[in-house]
Amino acid sequence: MHVAIVGSGPSGLYTADAITRLWPDTEIDIFDRLPTPYGLVRGGIAPDHQSTKAVARAFERMLSRPGTRFFGNVEIGRDLRYDELKAAYDLVIFSVGAENDRSLGIPGENLPGVYGAAAFVGWYNGHPRHHALEPLLDGTALAVIGNGNVALDVVRVLAKTQAELADSDICEHAARRIDAAHLTDLYLIGRRGPIEASFTPVELAELGELERCDVIVDPAAIAADVGPEVPEKERKSRQRNLEILRSFGARSGEPKPMRIHVLFNAAPVAILGEERVRGLQLERTRVIEGRAEPTGERFELPVESVVAAIGYHTPALPGVPFDEKRGRFANDDGFIEPGVYAAGWCKHGPRGVVGTNRTDAGILVKRIAEDIASQALPEGKPGTGAVTALLRERGIRFIDYAAWKRIDEAEIARATPPKPREKFVTIASLLSAASVI
Ligand SMILES: Cc1cc2nc3c(=O)[nH]c(=O)nc-3n(C[C@H](O)[C@H](O)[C@H](O)COP(=O)(O)OP(=O)(O)OC[C@H]3O[C@@H](n4cnc5c(N)ncnc54)[C@H](O)[C@@H]3O)c2cc1C
Repeated sequence: MHVAIVGSGPSGLYTADAITRLWPDTEIDIFDRLPTPYGLVRGGIAPDHQSTKAVARAFERMLSRPGTRFFGNVEIGRDLRYDELKAAYDLVIFSVGAENDRSLGIPGENLPGVYGAAAFVGWYNGHPRHHALEPLLDGTALAVIGNGNVALDVVRVLAKTQAELADSDICEHAARRIDAAHLTDLYLIGRRGPIEASFTPVELAELGELERCDVIVDPAAIAADVGPEVPEKERKSRQRNLEILRSFGARSGEPKPMRIHVLFNAAPVAILGEERVRGLQLERTRVIEGRAEPTGERFELPVESVVAAIGYHTPALPGVPFDEKRGRFANDDGFIEPGVYAAGWCKHGPRGVVGTNRTDAGILVKRIAEDIASQALPEGKPGTGAVTALLRERGIRFIDYAAWKRIDEAEIARATPPKPREKFVTIASLLSAASVI
């Protein structure tokens, strides 16, 4: 069987792994529009979470397995068309993630100084699409809107000292800009209350360990108990979040030079300013049956930058059925159309950790096996040969596994320990490090 997997992030690689466990002789070609593999493990997960990024070692084994080929720097929809993939492969699996930021939908969101989390995180992580963002960090106050782990990542990275980031793989351009910033007050803002926040306790507790930053929480805003409505499987972690938040509120000692203000029940109404951000207007909310209801009471924060970490959507691809409302490929449990499937964030939206993709991949491949058993695949798809001929004809310089390893080694070699790597952040520098130009 010839299989094309589009996207070399966790969902693509776990799906490749599940396929080869079931059908060891399968030929799998994994495409990525970047010259580098591993999706958000490289470009999303926070640079100071190196132990989480270590999953890349397992992915490396999957990508280098005989019968599996990596085609980096090949964008489906630009370098190869969807119909060309369908003509070349027995199975096509999309695992392209959800790379675009959801918008806030409020006045002022296009002002200079407002960034989506995909762009902001991509900037400090050296994603070629976002490395040149140069966010405005020249003010003293910045707001991060969102109550999930991505929002925590952003405030934590901004609050850390250079010494605290020394063993991270934050890109040098971002480390320099954060070091030169004059930020003293970071606001972490949630529309709903502390019970509804989707932080995970370990990540939330990290805020309490920052060298130069206090966490300010109004203890009166933190309920004693999560209450009966929280589903059983989430009770323990939500309860733990409340304890951690209360512990922040109870701290005393010498004040530190920076503060993270954790604000709940505050919905953004408008971003203020003319030439650039000068403030954020918010409305107090009340949570009724899990929803944030406005109260009419408004207030303003004098911030100079805003990062919106409120979710992502998948960009549509020409010809691939798309669900506009949900912002992902139209699919039924992963099935898009005969021989075509979706996995990971482009299948079910942006939720779940890296490991979730492993479980999901197992379920998807079981479904594919059932479909194959009930409806035989058409014979005679040519696989890799047809596609490499098209790429050569079009002058696309693709990166194979060996070329990726050259990039990997060069990035490690040019970093100053304890920094694990200094990433190349442009397509040109990546191709040059791979020696394909
Ligand atoms: C900021 C952030 C921090 C996170 N931190 C953690 C964490 O600490 N721990 C944890 O467990 N999980 C974390 N996650 C979640 C984890 O990253 C996701 O669960 C996982 O990456 C989703 O995998 P995916 O394969 O669906 O998408 P992705 O990882 O986004 O991979 C998609 C891949 O598809 C490629 N692609 C896109 N379009 C095309 C195209 N047209 N042609 C070819 N290739 C294409 C992209 O370049 C990318 O490599 C984080 C997520 C974010 C956003």
